[in-house]
Amino acid sequence: MSIPSKVTDYMSQHETDFVRRLQEAVGIPSVSGDPASRPHVMEMAEWIKNELTTLGATVTLKDLGKQTLEGKEIQLPPAILASVGSDASKPTVLIYAHYDVQPAAKEDGWDTDPFKLTYDKDRDCYHGRGSTDDKGPLVGWINVLDAHVNTGTKLPVNIKFCLEGMEESGSVGLDKLIVEESQPGKFLNGVACVCISDNYWLNTSTPCLTYGLRGISCFELTISGPKWDLHSGVFGGTVYEPMTDLIALMSKLVTSQGKILVPGVYKSVPPVTEDEKKLYDALHYSIDDIDTAAGANIALSDDKVTVLMGRMREPSLSLHGIEGAFSGPGTKTVIPPSVTGKFSIRLVPNQTTKEIEELVEAYVTAEFEKLNSKSTMKIEHSESGEPWYTDPNHWNFKAAERATLAVYDKKPDYTREGGSIPIALSFSDALHVSVVLLPMGRGDDGAHSEKEKIDRSNYLKGTQLLGTYLWEVAKEVSKDVK
Ligand SMILES: [Zn+2]
Repeated sequence: MSIPSKVTDYMSQHETDFVRRLQEAVGIPSVSGDPASRPHVMEMAEWIKNELTTLGATVTLKDLGKQTLEGKEIQLPPAILASVGSDASKPTVLIYAHYDVQPAAKEDGWDTDPFKLTYDKDRDCYHGRGSTDDKGPLVGWINVLDAHVNTGTKLPVNIKFCLEGMEESGSVGLDKLIVEESQPGKFLNGVACVCISDNYWLNTSTPCLTYGLRGISCFELTISGPKWDLHSGVFGGTVYEPMTDLIALMSKLVTSQGKILVPGVYKSVPPVTEDEKKLYDALHYSIDDIDTAAGANIALSDDKVTVLMGRMREPSLSLHGIEGAFSGPGTKTVIPPSVTGKFSIRLVPNQTTKEIEELVEAYVTAEFEKLNSKSTMKIEHSESGEPWYTDPNHWNFKAAERATLAVYDKKPDYTREGGSIPIALSFSDALHVSVVLLPMGRGDDGAHSEKEKIDRSNYLKGTQLLGTYLWEVAKEVSKDVK
């Protein structure tokens, strides 16, 4: 049975309520990376608990313990484990989303208050931190529950929610919880499939389903020399300068054309086949899409397949910043005593974070020795996550495809994402069931930036999409049984 029209009618009739609900969620500045905002992350968890409880879910806030952030020990936001229904004759769908957001301040260049969902009439979209990442989808699921409960419609599946408040800050504590809760008799055990709505369409017009993600290894490379700031007029030309060594090393990591220079990095990347190239060629994507999303004509190639492969199936290395370097306006003739270069590598299947970290460490150490500097070097890895790839022919994807067809009247693109959602792999490994990434937002949503938005139609149709998906899962599973 497909999603009943009384449910979709309810969704159409309650668009204003759904927008108001998203407005409330965006209004809570649940920035996980800033200790001062931690009470708001907690407030967000309570807000969700309240919404879900009102709609009949059984909700537990799981204490994940404490963390040390900026030298202070603070409480981690809880994982929200919630369930709706426990009918043994129905499949159970596990839904993951995150309720924390990236930092945002008006001074970063926002045109509007980042924590006030603001309608943009010209573009028919809503601006606000978390609008697309990931409060839009999270609230979309709540809307789905709302539409079923308030039309007296029984859900076709049981739902388990696993919602976290630390996704933007390394998902501290969640992996352990997933492993524990996947044991026999525990909360996550026995789910039929997993759905994550936390990525984006490839472009601005074609919905997609995602079956692969790149992993990530983050590095901090520190060069230290003098004990304190030195005056370049006094010490320039007389001492080894950490900044000079750091720039020399960072310039040896990657070329301007994006080729990684660390020897051995490409060793375990499978060669591309002609058949695989056809997959990328078939995707609805153009160089314009990437230039528009970047706000400048800066694609590495004019060939669509090359660009898509660069994002989906090739590793990449990006330089992010230098801590300790002078970065204010004007001139300051200082020699910084210690500087830390930050960079990361996005990994693809067959590469492992361990392998990549060892290769980078050996290479950077050897290159530093060649500099013959009296400064000292230290390389550390911070966050990391393995790449993920799953079978796009699984019934979980078929259900998502049919839901997309029903709501958008379009067959979705099947994509691999350049970003990393390590939790997809955690669920795959712990539960051994299919994980589908079913995004709500568009490729130009600007998650993490000062331009973050969600289109009104993506939010409202996205809510329909998530609801329809549940009904299609029920159909697929009953087919399976027959
Ligand atoms: Zn996200």
